[in-house]
Amino acid sequence: MEKIKIEKATTKPTESLKKLDIFKAWTIEDSENLYRINEWGNPYFSINAAGHIMVSPQGERGSALDLYHLIEGLRQRNIGLPLLIRFSDILADRLERLQACFNRSIARYNYANVYRGVYPIKCNQHRHIIEAIVNSGKPYKLGLEAGSKPELMIALATLDPQENTQNDPALLICNGYKDREYLETALLGKRLGHYPIIVIEQLKELYLTLKISRNLNIKPILGVRVKLCTKGSGRWGNSTGDRAKFGLTIPEILTVIKHLQALEMLDCLQLLHFHIGSQIASIGVIKNAMREASQIYVQLAQAGANMKYLDVGGGLAVDYDGSKTNFYASKNYNMQNYANDIVAAIQEACDGANIAVPTLITESGRAMAAHHSILVFDVLSTHDVSTTPPPAMEEKENLIIRNLWETYESISLKNYQETYHDALQFKEEAISLFNFGYLTLQERARAEQLYWACCGKIMSLICHQDYVPDDLEDLEKILASIYYVNLSVFQSAPDSWAIDQLFPIMPIHRLEEEPKQRGILADLTCDSDGKIDQFIDREDVKSVLELHSLNIKEIPELQPQAPELSSCLSIAEPYYLGMFLIGAYQEIMGNFHNLFGDINVVHISMNPKGYQIEHIVKGDTIKQVLGYVQYDGDDLLEAIRRQTEQGLQDNKITLEESQQLLKDYEDSLTHYTYLVADEIF
Ligand SMILES: *Cc1c(COP(=O)(O)O)cnc(C)c1O
Repeated sequence: MEKIKIEKATTKPTESLKKLDIFKAWTIEDSENLYRINEWGNPYFSINAAGHIMVSPQGERGSALDLYHLIEGLRQRNIGLPLLIRFSDILADRLERLQACFNRSIARYNYANVYRGVYPIKCNQHRHIIEAIVNSGKPYKLGLEAGSKPELMIALATLDPQENTQNDPALLICNGYKDREYLETALLGKRLGHYPIIVIEQLKELYLTLKISRNLNIKPILGVRVKLCTKGSGRWGNSTGDRAKFGLTIPEILTVIKHLQALEMLDCLQLLHFHIGSQIASIGVIKNAMREASQIYVQLAQAGANMKYLDVGGGLAVDYDGSKTNFYASKNYNMQNYANDIVAAIQEACDGANIAVPTLITESGRAMAAHHSILVFDVLSTHDVSTTPPPAMEEKENLIIRNLWETYESISLKNYQETYHDALQFKEEAISLFNFGYLTLQERARAEQLYWACCGKIMSLICHQDYVPDDLEDLEKILASIYYVNLSVFQSAPDSWAIDQLFPIMPIHRLEEEPKQRGILADLTCDSDGKIDQFIDREDVKSVLELHSLNIKEIPELQPQAPELSSCLSIAEPYYLGMFLIGAYQEIMGNFHNLFGDINVVHISMNPKGYQIEHIVKGDTIKQVLGYVQYDGDDLLEAIRRQTEQGLQDNKITLEESQQLLKDYEDSLTHYTYLVADEIF
């Protein structure tokens, strides 16, 4: 959206008004620009002529579906919100894109080896996701990366050794801390035809691995994880450096070489691994890491190790805000640049030393998984700051209120900064007077109403200004409406509160309509951190999100006693918001704050006729989440039943009431932990 300039002096007011395009009807394109959907969502998400979000799970190639209609259809099937929708075709498309980028780089540089992708299970471990990834990865020999024993168990059970060819198997990269059981399981997996590569992260693991492999008489395939000196960047930047948690230092790697040499097992060492952190926003960091790692690779080969693989770990970033910058929510490179830089760096180092180039491995989790899921939730209600002034001044009004009135009336383009500070000061004085007993509740209410009226009037002036003084920048935030959403941030978008991760958020319908409200989102939990008040923007972040006011349907039979109450005694048409690019890391890190449980999940796949619902995974019931904290639903119900019996005996509750209570209690146990909007009506 273009900022509107107010022309000065030379132009007559009517002419300058014509330049304001505030009278132009809102278009779909305006919504596209406002929410930047083409920047972060291309090619999967767009807006159709009806103002609904369209999802094209296969990118430009396949058909598209209307997200709003999908949600309505699911609600008719009794699948309530909040809801996570997964598109396995997006997963497949992401991994094909990554593969295609590396294939292009390999062709471009005449690189004499191949790329083999590996999916790091920790990024999103859900079975349907792993199965979909492994299935779509078969043509590319996509492998899996395990960082713990449970993940190793998933990997072994999911990869099919029958599919492995002698020279080109799907890889099973064994990372993380390892004990005897982990190592035995991995090594024995080799007997089944799997191709486990045991990456040594600590010297101790080397000795343990060699001992176990001797006992089992299975030759291990080994890798080493190196602590690079190259500094990572962003929030996970300390995955490298001398004090990083994982990996071996160069002296330790030399110890590994010496030890293997003495055992005549240097041919077992085949892989060099590094991981400089997740969401690397700057390509410079990747280039530097590649330069360092390529040198290490070459020298390991020269030292006699049987080097075959270079595993560059994860870090390939996702452009959450679509700004294409090195901002932490973005990245200043594309997937092709990433592949080119990796291929070119290792090629140059190997060519220089006359060493065969390695099979390249990436463990890109975020870049593969982020796009494929959308969180859809509804708005339950809103709280707007009322900026309407109170009824006109009465005689003998308190001085402070008269001051506020005068301030309100004098606000103009010339003095809005000054009047803002006046209004603020008078409001604070009014509160002091109230605290000392000099103002009545009614007077305090009038003072507050006038203060908000001043803020509203000033806001309406400055929203068309090019320049807004710093001290007024918070005004928009102060005046923002609160949108109460049917969601727990802690369960469904934990990184949003834990590390201020930004995700694109926007309405999934009504996009043909101008969003006139400015809001922040408040979730269902009783935690003041359970809110979202940072949103993606072209530069930096913005503190309010443009949203539509709820469409209210009046309910005639409910007559409000006070006109202010009328908006509460009405029901709003559903208003759905989507949070996008949340397929990586969010689900597994979620927690049960206030006992809001797992949400409903729907898996959608595309077929030539349209889409089909592949799986529905119902979210937790209240009974299930209570079980996680060791409550038994039947015991709880029994306790309430005993209380009702006692209540009946003491004549405190009627039989009918007690039956109603027990029925609600029992029904609730089997219900979703989230709210059902406006069920009372
Ligand atoms: C977390 C992790 C990854 C995945 O990183 P992304 O940035 O999500 O691609 C890969 N490898 C290792 C060792 C990791 O710890």
